[in-house]
Amino acid sequence: MKGLVLKSTGSWYEVLGDNDRSYTCRTRGKLRLKGFKTTNPIAVGDYVVFSLDEEVEGQGVIDEILPRENYIIRKSVKLKSQGHIIASNIDQAILIVTLAYPRTSLGFIDRFLVTAESFRIPQVLIFNKIDLLDGDARHYLAEIRSLYENIGIQCLEVSALTETGIEDVKDLLKGKKSLISGHSGVGKSTLINKIAPEINQKTGEVSDYAEKGIHTTTFAEMFRIGQDTFIIDTPGIKELGIIDIDKEELSDYFPEMRALQPECKFHNCTHTHEPKCAVKDAVDEGEIAESRYMSYLSILEGDDNRR
Ligand code: GDP
Ligand code: ZN
Repeated sequence: MKGLVLKSTGSWYEVLGDNDRSYTCRTRGKLRLKGFKTTNPIAVGDYVVFSLDEEVEGQGVIDEILPRENYIIRKSVKLKSQGHIIASNIDQAILIVTLAYPRTSLGFIDRFLVTAESFRIPQVLIFNKIDLLDGDARHYLAEIRSLYENIGIQCLEVSALTETGIEDVKDLLKGKKSLISGHSGVGKSTLINKIAPEINQKTGEVSDYAEKGIHTTTFAEMFRIGQDTFIIDTPGIKELGIIDIDKEELSDYFPEMRALQPECKFHNCTHTHEPKCAVKDAVDEGEIAESRYMSYLSILEGDDNRR
């Protein structure tokens, strides 16, 4: 039977079968995907082929992992060639941001976008707590929003508290597997609670567990909130991960820079010190936002601007 991995504990997996029933599955020996050296061969979001246990109802064995559309990997700090796949086959990476209370920095937003882009996952920004914004702040929000829309990022404005825009969020999620991230305090729990009250309880349990130190390894989990609609929760992972991108490659993940790259004099231009750089010219002319270029430089220099 074909199924979708909803949960992984490292030793067993919860698999949602094609028949809409849930199975507890194990693997038979070592399952490997070519080219991968990961601590977990199977990840949340994987489509798998599994066989039913003839003796025990509701149990099965995973025989095969079907090719992945994309995946998020955490590189091992010690062994760069190894990693842990957090989740796969993600349709969109959503970042919840607030421009105030607390203020999400543009650097943090850009880092998230670049990382998702490098994993080939489309990105969406949800601006929450718009009920708290006065005239000036609304102006600023409109500016930031158009900055991101101009580079092709979908943006939504919501208030989880007053439920403004909640229907738009539901539409956004429908029929997709979405990873939802955000700094603590931006209203992620409140928002998820409004959309799918049944899952917040569960995510709360996971973090309590981690805090007590009983279970320090955090595994992602996917929650079904509707037909073909899933939310991926990554407990303990506040940002998409430490990115490991080559310097020459970085501007590929800034869509507005990628578009100009062929016009730079040097094909391997890093858009820093080189003459006749189309990207720097675009920044000077205001066609590329200053803040985006600053984020680019900051990531290039390896600064830790995840705040
Ligand atoms: P999380 O850490 O991202 O899960 O944030 P929470 O959902 O716990 O929310 C943090 C605080 O912000 C709580 O006090 C919420 O009541 C509040 N909050 C969440 N969404 C909104 C909103 O849209 N407007 C306002 N005014 N407060 C909100
Ligand atoms: Zn250049």
